[in-house]
Amino acid sequence: MKKTTLLYTRTNCYDQWNDRKIKDAFSFAESYKQFLSQGKTERLVVEEGIQLLQQAGFIPLSRIIDRPVKAGQKLYEVNHHKSLVAVVVGKRPLQEGMNMILTHIDSPRIDLKVNPLYEDSQIALLKTQYYGGIKKYQWPTIPLELHGVVTLQNGKTIRVNIGDNKDDPIFVITDLLPHAAGKQMERKASEIVQGEELNIMVGSIPVKNKKGKERVKQAIVEHLYKKYGMIEEDFVSAEIEAVPAFEVRDLGFDRSFIGGYGHDDRSSSYAALRALLDIKGIPERTTLLFWSDKEEVGSYGATGAQSNFLYHVIGNVLRLFDPAALDTTTRDLLSSSYALSGDVDAAFDPDYKDVHDERNTAQLNHGVTITKYTGVRGKYGANDADAEYVGKVRKLFHENGIVWQTGLISKVDVGGGGTIALYLAALGIHIVDCGPAVLSMHSPFEVISKADLFATYEAYQVFFEKMK
Ligand code: MN
Ligand code: MN
Repeated sequence: MKKTTLLYTRTNCYDQWNDRKIKDAFSFAESYKQFLSQGKTERLVVEEGIQLLQQAGFIPLSRIIDRPVKAGQKLYEVNHHKSLVAVVVGKRPLQEGMNMILTHIDSPRIDLKVNPLYEDSQIALLKTQYYGGIKKYQWPTIPLELHGVVTLQNGKTIRVNIGDNKDDPIFVITDLLPHAAGKQMERKASEIVQGEELNIMVGSIPVKNKKGKERVKQAIVEHLYKKYGMIEEDFVSAEIEAVPAFEVRDLGFDRSFIGGYGHDDRSSSYAALRALLDIKGIPERTTLLFWSDKEEVGSYGATGAQSNFLYHVIGNVLRLFDPAALDTTTRDLLSSSYALSGDVDAAFDPDYKDVHDERNTAQLNHGVTITKYTGVRGKYGANDADAEYVGKVRKLFHENGIVWQTGLISKVDVGGGGTIALYLAALGIHIVDCGPAVLSMHSPFEVISKADLFATYEAYQVFFEKMK
């Protein structure tokens, strides 16, 4: 689909696609909705990923015995339960480089503090610390679920999943009634609900012993012991996340949107996984999917994109072919690799036109968004992909009928953001941001378009199979 006009125009997927393709996009959305409903935390997303990879014949890297591995071999490696790499070995020698799609599977949320449980006014509550860039006022008065793990005193790790089943209770952070909120409403929006006010209500029935202190808290501690075998100190070695208990739903009369929690960035993550699973035959170049964690808090830590995990796994894959491969070979391989940083960008919001430069902002339904650079102010913290590489990606998309557009988070100096792209670019990989546009980003209920999601999947598929 080479452009024949001299002017840059965007295409609406619904003007470009035939009915059959629109049907495909809608059915793709159904499987994504299911994925997103299950994948409420990075750990749960990894579990779903492993299941789908195993069903498709992927095996853990550590279990590979025959070397060198053959073209078509499917491998994966999990990192601390929260991040993973999956690889399909291609026909061309690995040294010629890989085609990679790198996304993140963590989403903004409310984490429990390490010592969270307390009683106030005969109500038991949990103290929290928010994770990622949220508007704090969006999180009270919505139903919340609790998901995560607790490592008990005896070293055993147990799972906590409350709210998923219809019979489960849910949780909530309360807000002040408007009748008494005069003073609160005078606060700045960033302080209208403060971090220390994000406390989750968890119970109110006291223990029978009337002489005890904090009898409601005591009852909750006893409940936790009975149900999970945990004592209060076990919260210290727990990772429990409060996430919205909303169902993932079709949105709009025409059902063209999907409303749900965690589109950033489980939409790109799912599209990339499906693109990898749906590769037809054996790809020319080796293809790699990387799901990273901790993007929303700076990509630090063992599971963030700044960790050595990806580099390490690629080194290990390389050594499946050449046991004597050196670090320099890994670096050479990376610098001949092509990547898409699969992440969402802001969609143009008709209610807040002011913040967008309309010419440069992604529009819903206009396909997958290529974001050449991110960052704040004078491109601070941006990857800023080079012209040659963006040109290559653009050409690939044109040649394969992908509906795409460009995006930018906001007008200059209005705001900004970042992705994992810069950390991977630092390894020498050619990389540019590319994913669906989202409305209400980082809110408990984000919105994407089914068409954009499908265009993203198609773009990723073409990238895995045909980028060279
Ligand atoms: Mn993101
Ligand atoms: Mn984000």
